[in-house]
Parts: sequence; C-alpha cells; structure tokens
Amino acid sequence: MVGNDWDVVIVGAGPTGGRAATHLASLGHSVLMLEEHQEIGRPFQCAGLVTPKAMHEVELYDSVLQEIDGARIHGPDGTLVPVGTSGKLRTYVVCRKQFDQGVVQQAMQAGATLSLNSTPLEATANDDGVFLKIQIDGATKEIKTKLLLGCDGAHSWTRRNFKMGRPKEMMIGFQTEVLGYEGKERWLEMYSGSEIAPGFFSWVIPSGFGSHRIGVWSTPDRLDGKSVEDCYEDLLNHPLWKHRFENITETARYCGPIPSGMVKKTVSNRVMLLGDAAGMAKPTTGGGIGPGFRQIKGILKPLSEAITADRLNEKQLHKLSIKHFTTMKKDQDKARALRNLLVSDTTDEELNKHFTNFAKEEVLELINEIGDIEKPVPLGLALIKKVPAFRRLALRAGTRLMFR
Ligand SMILES: Cc1cc2nc3c(=O)[nH]c(=O)nc-3n(C[C@H](O)[C@H](O)[C@H](O)COP(=O)(O)OP(=O)(O)OC[C@H]3O[C@@H](n4cnc5c(N)ncnc54)[C@H](O)[C@@H]3O)c2cc1C
Repeated sequence: MVGNDWDVVIVGAGPTGGRAATHLASLGHSVLMLEEHQEIGRPFQCAGLVTPKAMHEVELYDSVLQEIDGARIHGPDGTLVPVGTSGKLRTYVVCRKQFDQGVVQQAMQAGATLSLNSTPLEATANDDGVFLKIQIDGATKEIKTKLLLGCDGAHSWTRRNFKMGRPKEMMIGFQTEVLGYEGKERWLEMYSGSEIAPGFFSWVIPSGFGSHRIGVWSTPDRLDGKSVEDCYEDLLNHPLWKHRFENITETARYCGPIPSGMVKKTVSNRVMLLGDAAGMAKPTTGGGIGPGFRQIKGILKPLSEAITADRLNEKQLHKLSIKHFTTMKKDQDKARALRNLLVSDTTDEELNKHFTNFAKEEVLELINEIGDIEKPVPLGLALIKKVPAFRRLALRAGTRLMFR
C-alpha cells in the first residue's frame, strides 16, 4: 500500500530518480518513487557507457558488460585518431536494465518506496505541499508531498505540468544491437562526416559476448529532412567502412531523445527537475547518467535541510541550488560552444583538416594527457592554445565561450 503523506515524491525511477531517492532516503526522509513502467530499466535507449566516476559512486560492477580503453575516431576522409591506451580503462559499458535496477534497489535498501505502473495525473503546489492525483495499476489515489522531484526523462511530465521550459537542444539517437562486427577489443569506434552523422558522430561500441551497439545521433535541424535511420544506413553503406559491416546481424533497434542544455527553470514552488528532465545530458557525448548523479549530489546537504525545515518554496529551492546548477550549466554551455566550433558547425573539409591535426603525434599526446570524457572543455582550450593549427580558432572560441 502506498501511503498518503511523503517528504519527497520522485516521478521516474531511472538512474537519476533512483540515485536521488538513495541519497534522500539515506538521510532519513520518506521517499516514494513513481515509475510508469512495470519493470525498471525498460525500455532501453542507451549505449550504456558509464564513466568510472559514476560507476565508483554506485559500485554496480556486476552490470558491466565490457571495459573500454579508448576510442578510435575516424574523420570524414578516414583519418584515424586513436584516443586512449590499451590496458588503461577509460569507461565501462553496462547492461542498462541491470544498472538501473541496481540503482533503484539501492534506493529501496536505503528505505525508499517504489510504486511501479504508477503515473501522476494531476499535481498542484501551494504553501502546504504538492497535492498529487496518481494512477497506480489503473486505480487513482490522492497523495501529498513536501517536495516533488521530476526525474522523468527527456519528455518530463513534471516539466510540462509546471511549465518549466524546454532543454536547449533535443538530439535524436538511433541504435542497433548487432552480432558479427569485428572491432578492436576494448576499443570503441567513432565515425564522423555530414552524410552519416551531421554535426555529430556515429559509434560502434563493444557490448560483451561478441555483440556491438551501432548508433548515430544528431539534431533535427542538422538532419535537414533526413532521419537518423537513414544516417545509420549511410554508415553501413559508406564506401570507406562498409566492409566492416558486411557480416553483421541486427538483434535489436532503439530510438530515443537526448536532451542537452539545462532548462531555464529547474525549480518551481516545491518542485525540482533533475537529470534528463532538466536537460542535463552532455552536448559532446550525449551521456546523461553522470550529470544526473552530479546534479543531485551537489545540493544534497542544503536540500535535505530544506526538506526537514519545510523551506521549499521557489525562492528557497533556487537559493540552495543556484550555485551548483549554474556551474553545471556553464560547463555545458562551454562544452557545446567548443563542440560547435571544432565539430558541429564545420564542413567535412574543415573537419578533415582538424583530423589531420589531431592525428599528429604531439597533438595525440596532448589529447591523451588532458582528454577526459567528463571534462572536454580543458582539452578543447588546450588544443586551441597549444596547437599552432588551431590558434586561428582562438578568437572565435573566445567570443563563443564569452557570449554563449
Ligand atoms: C541512443 C542513446 C544512447 C545513449 N547513450 C548513453 C550512454 O552511453 N551513456 C549515458 O550516460 N547516457 C546515454 N544516453 C542518455 C541516457 O540514456 C540518459 O541521459 C539517462 O537515461 C538519463 O537518466 P534519467 O534517470 O534522468 O532519465 P531516464 O533514464 O529517461 O529515466 C526516466 C524514468 O522516468 C520514467 N517516467 C517517465 N515519465 C514518467 C511518468 N509520467 N510517470 C512515471 N514515470 C515516468 C521512465 O519510465 C524512466 O524510467 C543515451 C541516450 C540515447 C537516446
């Protein structure tokens, strides 16, 4: 039976909702997670890359399908830039179902309650709390909470219900799971070029047991009427790389949105958005698990104190979150500006020139020294400052970083 009165109700039991629930329940708050599906971790729309930092936080090593040492990045004309060192782990590939279930299980072990097959139908907030009408297994029920956390993903109901804006960019990702691709062990591949992933890249990621995840992502404006599935087909038939895909057999297909660019209004009276609901995915990689974890962790202490004191109006939530959220937003904006400068807003010709420079030994050394999937900005800036060929971009970079 789901109780009527909660400290925190979380809409969405994905990784962000599960992690927020674990933290808040561990601090003694009563927490209810509402999950619309009958099962955690389904449907699955993810390449499954989890950074070591995020993994060390939850220690769900059982969900790891494959360890990755580096990325072999291909320019539009085929120039290869290998980033990473064999034997030195860079990131993990997980089974998202197992990972999400593990995160949510940790929340339940910490004392949070999970209600499956459950969605909010209505929610209104006032000085006394948030009053929700919810549906559980088809039956409606009214509950009250001090704080409502919207962790309900890219198309967040919470965000729409409380009119909290939209993420700056909504990328579209398409992915298949295949057998029969022969890549380098423990390395993922990234392919670039306007035909196969306009402004972005496509990926082939080993996912254990001889299987690979092949994906493409881009933004609707850059696709110019084409679908991401068309881009995927163009990758498979690309003259430079088609031989690699000759023997693959698809076992699954997925398509999903990737919201990147923090919404203007992350808080409202007694309501806060976290993770994909707030537009937290990285503009450079589309990774959203790490940012969701970081977002809640950075405000935990003041948020817990505010819940205890029931000081949760918009002004109070804004005050306790503004510093941390602004830092995250600035990082995201800088990463997007650099991505646009170096990759997304370039022609294939310019990108080929960049790849020729990336592939030089001294530049590769720099990339391997400073390159960190979690922090692309220091690498981008170092490239612009230290590599003569990129110096002419410095002025443009400076302007973009200052004004975006
Ligand atoms: C093709 C693709 C590849 C990706 N690859 C990666 C990757 O390799 N690494 C990475 O870190 N990220 C990746 N991402 C992004 C990643 O999937 C998300 O950023 C991450 O899942 C965000 O977690 P979240 O908990 O905020 O949201 P979600 O994982 O979307 O979880 C939201 C939860 O809320 C539930 N929900 C939604 N609406 C309601 C409602 N009204 N009521 C109740 N429950 C609701 C959903 O069922 C879901 O369980 C990828 C995305 C795509 C599309």
